[in-house]
Amino acid sequence: MARIELKGIRHCYPARRGEDPVWALEQLDQVWEDGGAYALLGPSGCGKTTLLNIISGLLTPTEGRVVFDDQDVTEVETTARQIAQVFQFPVVYDTMTVFDNLAFPLRNRGVPAAEIRPRVEEIAAMLDLTDTLGRRAAGLTADGKQKISLGRGLVRSDVNVIMFDEPLTVIDPHLKWQLRSKLKQLHQQVGTTMIYVTHDQTEALTFADRVVVMFEGKVVQVGTPVELFERPQHTFVGHFIGSPGMNVLPAREDGGRLVCLDHDLDALGSGATGSGTLEVGVRPEFVRFAPDGIPVRINKVDDLGRYQVADVEAAGQRLRMIVPEGETIPSEDERVRFDPAHTHCYRDGWRVQSAEAGA
Ligand code: ADP
Ligand code: MG
Repeated sequence: MARIELKGIRHCYPARRGEDPVWALEQLDQVWEDGGAYALLGPSGCGKTTLLNIISGLLTPTEGRVVFDDQDVTEVETTARQIAQVFQFPVVYDTMTVFDNLAFPLRNRGVPAAEIRPRVEEIAAMLDLTDTLGRRAAGLTADGKQKISLGRGLVRSDVNVIMFDEPLTVIDPHLKWQLRSKLKQLHQQVGTTMIYVTHDQTEALTFADRVVVMFEGKVVQVGTPVELFERPQHTFVGHFIGSPGMNVLPAREDGGRLVCLDHDLDALGSGATGSGTLEVGVRPEFVRFAPDGIPVRINKVDDLGRYQVADVEAAGQRLRMIVPEGETIPSEDERVRFDPAHTHCYRDGWRVQSAEAGA
């Protein structure tokens, strides 16, 4: 096992005919601590697979170094890096039995047969593959095959990191939920560093202790699920994570005060000076009806059982708020307030640290 460090990584794919080259990774400095359960979360095309392939050595970065513990492995070939990588689509040998598929990574590294059987059986039991061990992989469903792929990723106990690249894409929703909890459990048992790539916030937040959020070739925030919720460092994190996501509203600076929806937001005042585009971010959970607040018009209310989501409008801007069960929605002179402890000011997308708030 190892601590993995990416230093000043940039990656550019060569230009396709008639097109500009693509900088898939713009600038990346990131440490993956030994034994961590990480999710790498971001929309399609933000560079997640490129990043994994740089860690595993399938790609050599255009710039920067990859360091395992204190060893620079940037030029070291994939097989020597001791990494397990599970891809989005199953990689199995159709003509081999399920057992042989699972045993393959171990046999390949000369693990004695006496050790292989119990290990394969253990992994098979975990993935509910025990009954299929003697069957050829060709006969299995897409789910079954992907479970073999997962098993092949998990079977070695000597790897530095196990990386999963959107491994549950082809799995049906119910099984998805089961496998996700299993992976988490497994991480707790074996303690190997895991990096789980997904574009699904629920998957990321349930699997990981730390979530690395990527956007357009950059890491925009690394944090616990709670940190990403409470203190999004970038407006992208705010609206990508959360359901519904954070409200991001245009704002301006006026005599040192931050003005949003034609109102002063006193608590955030000191962060507002300087140039750039200002915005205010507040999650729907932290917008509340209050008699002394900003007047709004209610456009729509959706009842989601445990809470309601109200769609309201103020000064021509639309925002959403979550109304907890048991709270009534006013029927006239509707006004809302933002919880100042959970309202953030952003300049050009990045959160401004407010001197007054001390954070
Ligand atoms: P993700 O896994 O987050 O969906 P990728 O790492 O696959 O993102 O891709 C990042 C960017 O690099 C995208 O714009 C994608 O089109 C581009 N890209 C990926 N692979 C190649 C390639 N082999 N050649 C050129 N561009 C590529
Ligand atoms: Mg990908």
